Amino acid sequence: MGKPGKAGALMPVEQALQQLLDLADATPIREQETLPLAGCDGRVLAHALISTLDLPPWPNSAMDGYAVRLSDWTGEPLVVSQRIFAGQAPQPLAAGTCARIFTGAPVPAGADCVEMQENAVVHADERVSFSEPLRTGQNIRPQGQETTVGETVLDAGTRLGPIELGLAASLGCDGLAVVRRPRVAVLSTGDELIEPGLPLGPGQIYNSNRRVLCSWLARMGCDVIDAGILPDDLEQTRGRLAGLGSVDLILSTGGVSVGEADFLGVALREEGELALWKLAIKPGKPLTVGHFRGVPVIGLPGNPASTLVTFALLARPYILRRLGVLDVTPLRFEVPVGFEWPKPGNRREYLRGRIEQGRAVIYRNQSSGVLRSAAWAEGFVEVLEETTLARGDRVNFIPLSEVLG
Ligand code: AMP
Ligand code: MG
Repeated sequence: MGKPGKAGALMPVEQALQQLLDLADATPIREQETLPLAGCDGRVLAHALISTLDLPPWPNSAMDGYAVRLSDWTGEPLVVSQRIFAGQAPQPLAAGTCARIFTGAPVPAGADCVEMQENAVVHADERVSFSEPLRTGQNIRPQGQETTVGETVLDAGTRLGPIELGLAASLGCDGLAVVRRPRVAVLSTGDELIEPGLPLGPGQIYNSNRRVLCSWLARMGCDVIDAGILPDDLEQTRGRLAGLGSVDLILSTGGVSVGEADFLGVALREEGELALWKLAIKPGKPLTVGHFRGVPVIGLPGNPASTLVTFALLARPYILRRLGVLDVTPLRFEVPVGFEWPKPGNRREYLRGRIEQGRAVIYRNQSSGVLRSAAWAEGFVEVLEETTLARGDRVNFIPLSEVLG
């Protein structure tokens, strides 16, 4: 489970992602359900959406104006033989006439041009002439301009959002087959953790990772099983894992730092398999990947900024790939930096940053314990291994909006 690199060598982020995606491809979630469109937001399309219509179904007018047969326009004013509103079925255009037409209305058979009303002159006898030269096809949206019958409009594995659902609606679909929701159990490990709402005792901190992950997973369309706080205790760890029931993924945080009594690791090794990866990523070096009684387990580091970076860049794409999403790479774009980075690091850094006046700037405190850095940020500034930066050098910026959902 995860090929160890050279002794002591850190695993590059791409390699970790690729291995996770390979694991995901090996355990796809295939069950599906058909839902009304209103219930499909955020879900993953199970089958390709094939168009059963031409869109538009007939040529229609892009303008309010006059439909004309070009060869009928000699400069002599034309009689208006019909008025065609959106939603009406026109008569064929009578020879030597034009038709008043409005946006979205079907273009009558025989017309090959629509002139906008701004270029039309309506004479006292109600005949119409045109002030500008007419061109074939102008202001006509041809039949099938968007799609034709039989075309694949959305691929299987597409993440559905408002735009995709609108597209399905435009084809007359009222429901879609989507991949069932994955069931993800979230475990927060650590003796020091208590839940918000309770008084803080000595040495205790509030559990924030649980909230981050449960809310994030819910946005992704997961069924979240909140498995609560797991104390650093082997017996309790065994018991909690065994009691999780049927889930598709166990996602834990904490307890993976070197040197800590690794109870999750022990329990998993007894009844599953576990690899401890040391990643070239900052924040977030340690990641555990394995399974418990056949259920995949990903153990994220516990520091809040590490949890969120490793979730965003590794666990999220893994979960989406289990659902059959092919393109799990968040959009990133190059921006010049507005800060200095004088010391190269041996891990790839995902600094919590913003774009200000076209340049990436970073939160003042990039400690892995500081969740506030990410609340301030608009995205991750990616600083490659062994790299220094001067102002104006270019880096990749991954907007948080790309990964939060
Ligand atoms: P660990 O990976 O368990 O060594 O935790 C690393 C750091 O993250 C420690 O400072 C923990 O207190 C903190 N931490 C672990 N889990 C959580 C959590 N669920 N919420 C907030 N902080 C946490
Ligand atoms: Mg801990």
